[in-house]
Amino acid sequence: MAVDLHTHSTASDGSYSPEELVDHASRRQLRALALTDHDTTGGVREAEAAAEAKGIGFVPGIEISADPGRPSGTMHILGYFVEPDHPELKRVTEEQQKARRDRIPRIVDALNRLGIDITLEEVTGGGDCEAIGRPHVAAVLLNKGWVGSMQEAFERYLGDDGAAFQPKARMPAARAIEGIHAAGGLAVLAHPIQLRYDDDAELVRIVEWLVDAGLDGMEVYHPDHTEALADVYRSLADRFGLTTTGGSDFHGSRKEFELGGQNVPDDVYERLRAAVGHGAWGMGHGA
Ligand code: AMP
Ligand code: MN
Ligand code: MN
Ligand code: MN
Repeated sequence: MAVDLHTHSTASDGSYSPEELVDHASRRQLRALALTDHDTTGGVREAEAAAEAKGIGFVPGIEISADPGRPSGTMHILGYFVEPDHPELKRVTEEQQKARRDRIPRIVDALNRLGIDITLEEVTGGGDCEAIGRPHVAAVLLNKGWVGSMQEAFERYLGDDGAAFQPKARMPAARAIEGIHAAGGLAVLAHPIQLRYDDDAELVRIVEWLVDAGLDGMEVYHPDHTEALADVYRSLADRFGLTTTGGSDFHGSRKEFELGGQNVPDDVYERLRAAVGHGAWGMGHGA
């Protein structure tokens, strides 16, 4: 039975509600699941209750967007076993939610200037998503026939090199890690490949800097990682005393990767539980 420690729901940019996600995990016979929505824990309580009812191990999580400290690239910090309503974590996530809300109208304006007829209302659809993002725009572009796929929406318009790209304010990684630790959680560097580091030396520098800021773990198993890359990340985790995690980065129908499809070793979940219970990893985290 598989475990999956990286998933999204409608609380951010996934297409399944938290409860539907857990139902899906149950159909896929997952043993354990973490919900790691972008910059919000808004779906955690619902998923937790559903997982308990289905007898699936559940990890309350989050994925916080941070500043990678370089011009391009994405730095996401996963938080595991966080107290979802912790005020310190809330402060951090509210900052990112505001940055998200500020960016969407700028993207819509940029698209309008390119002659693409979409409205802010179509994107926000009533406005109840705390962590609105580019996939919400991409879905409208797709539904209205401006693009043929989500991938095309990112390549042509929304991605870092897209014609309607708009930057978003990003928070220091140390602050994301502090927020996760304050909420009793463990901080894990998500999909290191997305940092777009130039070479291994730069990767090591970034990881050293994050470890100094309190990083506890590194995501090794992820659909964007080849096996060779996973080996690199595993040995780097060893070198810095980090635990390893992984998951499918499931977004429902919004992305091709299937829940539980990453062959994440079961002991990843066991070690994560043990670590948060006994404070076995990472220095300076207050759990
Ligand atoms: P944002 O959170 O607004 O910065 O948007 C980033 C999100 O867009 C990621 O979390 C992915 O879910 C999604 N995404 C990024 N690149 C692509 C792509 N090429 N195709 C589909 N979805 C993507
Ligand atoms: Mn996403
Ligand atoms: Mn991510
Ligand atoms: Mn993710």
